[in-house]
Amino acid sequence: MRVATFSIGSERRVGLVDPGGVSIAPFDLSADEATEGVVALIRRDGSLPATLSPYPLDRISLEAPIPSPRRNIFCVGKNYHDHAHEFSQSGFDSSAAAGAVPKHPIIFSKVPETVIANAAKVLIDPRVSTAIDYEAELALIIGKPGRGIRPEDAFQHVWGYTIVNDVTARDLQGRHSQWLVGKSQDTFCPMGPWAVTKDEIDISDTAIRCFVNGDIRQSSNTSRLIFDIASIIATISAGVTLRAGDIIATGTPAGVGVGFDPPRYLKDGDVVRVEIDGIGALENQVEEVRA
Ligand code: MG
Repeated sequence: MRVATFSIGSERRVGLVDPGGVSIAPFDLSADEATEGVVALIRRDGSLPATLSPYPLDRISLEAPIPSPRRNIFCVGKNYHDHAHEFSQSGFDSSAAAGAVPKHPIIFSKVPETVIANAAKVLIDPRVSTAIDYEAELALIIGKPGRGIRPEDAFQHVWGYTIVNDVTARDLQGRHSQWLVGKSQDTFCPMGPWAVTKDEIDISDTAIRCFVNGDIRQSSNTSRLIFDIASIIATISAGVTLRAGDIIATGTPAGVGVGFDPPRYLKDGDVVRVEIDGIGALENQVEEVRA
């Protein structure tokens, strides 16, 4: 099923998107529960609440499926071979000395306040960064909590998937050997347009694409991940308890702006669209601000 968090008037709701993508039926959840977005459903542990009368999708505003994650979003760096090579040659890779392709997954995070919805603006401030880049990524949403999860058990802990754009200030990423600041600028984690449960797609073989102003920049497939989903979950959960609603962005394929010569960074008015087969499309416009 496809589940979206949305607002209508001043109320936040969580609803089931119909297969045709034209209407959304809110689940019968309390206002308190709905503040957590799709995490409210994960907490129901398989017993879905009833749905109420649907709204046309064009009458509601989509929010990010998990609008306010309870902690940082886990992210995997350099997790597609072609991107690992383009990034290690960019001059901004503070981990390049260890080789283009990492021996162990690179794990970093983005603060929760970076999250914005489909169609919300990515704000860029040229006084802070002049090298803003896009990164199309599949993100996992954890359902069943766990620690020390074995690879063969990993999918028991996955609730579903969504799309994120891991927007990055390359100059800040290169300047600081820890990537957090370059990855955690306000509005730098578009997420959505909704989440899908894990039964909806074969995640070992799913196409992922990114367009900027309609031009295709990234086109790959999850079959090309260096560290697959099971090994990512095993790596992070080895000592870090994963919790319901945790989000893990799995890395981006080649074709990011810094991989071009000269680099093609995002500028005011650009529209970035990330598509993942079986999930949908996440589209956000960039807006320059000086505040
Ligand atoms: Mg990334």
